[in-house]
Amino acid sequence: MSGTVEIAGGGIAGLTAGLAFARKGWRVRVHEQDDDLRILGAGIYIWENGLKVLDALGVLNAVTWGALPAWRHEKRDADGWLFAQSRLKPNFRLYVPTREALLTALHEALIAAGGEVVFGSRAVDADAEGTLYFADGKEARADLIVAADGINSPIRDGLGLLRWRREVGQFGYRAMIRRAPSELKTDVGRTHCENWNGARRLLYAPCTEELAYVQLTSLKGDARGNRVPIDRDYWREAFPHLSWIIERIPDDGRGDWFELIRTRKWAKGCVALVGDSASAQPPFLGQGGGCAMMSGYVLAEAIDRAGGDVELGIAEWQRRLRRFTEWVQRVSYWYGELARLPPTLRLAAFGALGKSERLQAATLFVAARHDATAPETWRRAEQAQIPIPIFH
Ligand SMILES: Cc1cc2nc3c(=O)[nH]c(=O)nc-3n(C[C@H](O)[C@H](O)[C@H](O)COP(=O)(O)OP(=O)(O)OC[C@H]3O[C@@H](n4cnc5c(N)ncnc54)[C@H](O)[C@@H]3O)c2cc1C
Repeated sequence: MSGTVEIAGGGIAGLTAGLAFARKGWRVRVHEQDDDLRILGAGIYIWENGLKVLDALGVLNAVTWGALPAWRHEKRDADGWLFAQSRLKPNFRLYVPTREALLTALHEALIAAGGEVVFGSRAVDADAEGTLYFADGKEARADLIVAADGINSPIRDGLGLLRWRREVGQFGYRAMIRRAPSELKTDVGRTHCENWNGARRLLYAPCTEELAYVQLTSLKGDARGNRVPIDRDYWREAFPHLSWIIERIPDDGRGDWFELIRTRKWAKGCVALVGDSASAQPPFLGQGGGCAMMSGYVLAEAIDRAGGDVELGIAEWQRRLRRFTEWVQRVSYWYGELARLPPTLRLAAFGALGKSERLQAATLFVAARHDATAPETWRRAEQAQIPIPIFH
């Protein structure tokens, strides 16, 4: 049975949830506070779990069109010495399309499916009975309200759902650079590589034939590393062999301090928190967006399978994903904390991780290996009338 949903926030979470409900025949309206999609000049890691959701929603080809499938992921030290690597496989994929490609594809598919996106519409509050309140004094009622209004969610805070919010003391600068045609042929130009010097990291990720995504990460207190626009000399001294990347990094990239969010619950009455409002995490696993997509998709699926019963569906959605996502957040945080270790200890930690596939499966790749779309898990749960096993 279909119903109505009002969604605050037109980012990855809001558009994915909107599309998932529109595909189920719901009347969907997304409210985005900005006057257009918030398109940021950066790429986004989308691992197998996110790709499966996009596929199930019929937008995978549009999102990955022109994007290069990743084939190798490496870690190197400041001298270029390779100390960890993983190979991607056809059943364990990674793409890094531009954020623009992702948001545009979701938006276009949502409109084509009959959904509506209202720009310049800022939500300020919601009540558990299903009313969304806006900055201009208007309000809207629906069977379900989705708060996909990002890390600073006023709806989450207004409903008292925030348990804590923690700065993790790390900073990231993101930008896109143009690739030279020769980089398509060399291994270095085709490989995703996280380069380390002390606690500083330079990530190079080929996106398309023309563009690569670069992220510079530094600890709080590293004044030159935290600078925007970047201190080019400082980064060149740290990674002299990567001057070919550093020269091309533009000054208009984006800098962010990373944070972790923990909520008491993901919902109150018929208001559900999806994406960073519920589960913001530092980006060390490249899974904040992936978790947001899984959450939006599973919410629609759970309510649909509960015959449109919002309360039952929300309970099932939380049972399936909440603990699991909290584990992913924790892993992402601790993985990032490796930056604080002395290099020899860090190498030992990466070495241990690299040797054990089981450890990787339970940590680094736990989200990437999670198939939120697998029909058999839903069938099993329905037949048994019990929740599927989840990660504890
Ligand atoms: C440096 C960095 C790198 C990252 N890299 C990756 C990666 O490679 N892969 C990955 O999966 N994730 C990555 N992430 C995480 C990912 O960006 C987020 O998890 C994801 O964007 C969350 O989507 P969202 O829609 O919940 O929030 P947002 O992207 O913040 O979108 C929220 C939207 O809601 C709108 N909005 C906010 N408040 C209101 C309001 N009151 N009313 C109406 N609209 C509102 C905003 O304008 C915005 O459009 C990274 C994060 C950072 C900081």
